[in-house]
Amino acid sequence: MSLIGVTNCRKLEDYRQSVLHVGGEVRVLDPSTDIPASLEGLDGLLLTGGGDLSPATYGEAAHPTIEPAEPGRDDFELGLVALARKRGLPILAICRGVQVLNVAYGGTLIQDIPSQVPGALPHKLEVPPHQAFEFAHEIWIDKDTRLAQLMRERLSDADACQVNSRHHQAIRQLAPGLIASATAPDGVIEAIEDPSAAFCLGVQWHPENFWRTGEFRPLFEGLLDAAARK
Ligand code: MN
Repeated sequence: MSLIGVTNCRKLEDYRQSVLHVGGEVRVLDPSTDIPASLEGLDGLLLTGGGDLSPATYGEAAHPTIEPAEPGRDDFELGLVALARKRGLPILAICRGVQVLNVAYGGTLIQDIPSQVPGALPHKLEVPPHQAFEFAHEIWIDKDTRLAQLMRERLSDADACQVNSRHHQAIRQLAPGLIASATAPDGVIEAIEDPSAAFCLGVQWHPENFWRTGEFRPLFEGLLDAAARK
């Protein structure tokens, strides 16, 4: 059975269930452990949601709306990505995770969509936890991507689908080596991937909230398949 490292966060349970439901085992990764020890024996890495990365990590001053993550998370998770990338460890990154992934590869972020992207859709839906899977907006998926490949069966070859959305930040400058695999109709990047990696995919929405109904199960299956082949 494949062992997936899941970065600790305040809403861990849906991430854990999403991995368990595709046949994986979970190790929760905490910034109190050192990075090589955290990755020891893992078959895959799942980067979870949470607060904002410090803009210092991509060389900018902080916008007033920044809500920092738990102490130590930024350096820990950036370090995890750097080492996982070096080792070819499969990575699935979600929400804050996709932002960590882009910054770890050398990209930058939009610090606050409502004040920095004129005409943007509402991306930060305030919904109670039991409605976390409520759809917020459409995404358009690029056909020639791993994301399209994974979602093909569920979407019957369509290139659009509905997603939930609880983020006020997004990718600004895509890092070298990464491509955008989905965007929202307002141009906000909703998914990225590293085409040169065995499996390295990040999404800006919250697929983990759908583990009961399986709408985004293919993303977790993709991580587990890659982990098994590692
Ligand atoms: Mn969104």
